Amino acid sequence: MRVLILGGTAEARALAAALDGDPRVRVVSSLAGRVTNPRLPVGEVREGGFGGPEGLAAWLTGHGIDALVDATHPFARRMTASAAEAAAATGVPLLVLRRPGWREEAGDSWHWVESLPAAATLLPSLGRRVFLTTGRRSLPVFAPHPELWFLARSVDPPEPPIPAGVEVLLARGPYTVEGERALIGEHRLDVLVTKDSGGSMTTAKLVAARELGVPVVMVRRPPPPAGVRLADSVEAAVEWVHPG
Ligand code: NAP
Repeated sequence: MRVLILGGTAEARALAAALDGDPRVRVVSSLAGRVTNPRLPVGEVREGGFGGPEGLAAWLTGHGIDALVDATHPFARRMTASAAEAAAATGVPLLVLRRPGWREEAGDSWHWVESLPAAATLLPSLGRRVFLTTGRRSLPVFAPHPELWFLARSVDPPEPPIPAGVEVLLARGPYTVEGERALIGEHRLDVLVTKDSGGSMTTAKLVAARELGVPVVMVRRPPPPAGVRLADSVEAAVEWVHPG
């Protein structure tokens, strides 16, 4: 059977690795092609958009795909919607693999918001020196606040021009609690903004924020499309692809 994994996450790579070598399954992983030097999954990889739901539907049919796993990032809203639409149009079974979101613990001071603009609106009431970890493309949402200073961390550089009051830090997780604590101290950061991405690769900043009493603005995940089948672990996705 041929399986297409929509990827760009650690879970997508783990799923490709778990299915690799199984003679009953042929896996193709798909990446958006945005990151300059992406971490590649094992096995066959294709890159670039499909051209919306219609393009993906044509791709699924043209490549004889028997099962589709959407293992994209929980905030990759367009790709997830496109996968649901293409699966419905073609009849290809779809599983949405989403790692669980983060949970607040004792000592945390999290402020949940529905969107990036809502996070930007809330920020001035919480701090002045912002640790911004919501991705390079989110910078224009935040930068119009002249009273705030930002340390914006991203894998690839944001599009220039970089607004005044923004320092860009290029880095890729996983991060350590010690490193995050040092970063917060060195830059005197007094508020953190993050999406509820979940997973273990980037939790260190949340631990450091808890320890240092730094408030966190947490952007809530978009809900998955109605009616899709969900799995919250790679093991469950392997089981779905190949029961037993
Ligand atoms: P998005 O806004 O949902 O997707 C925008 C467009 O990019 C999609 O409509 C699709 O183009 C193309 N695309 C996205 N993921 C793709 C994939 N795996 N394979 C082929 N085409 C893909 O997604 P995004 O938020 O830009 O994320 C892009 C990629 O980065 C995803 O693979 C995601 O898993 C990864 N990622 C995202 C985040 C985040 O915070 N959003 C964080 C870490 C990793 P067409 O419509 O032309 O098919």
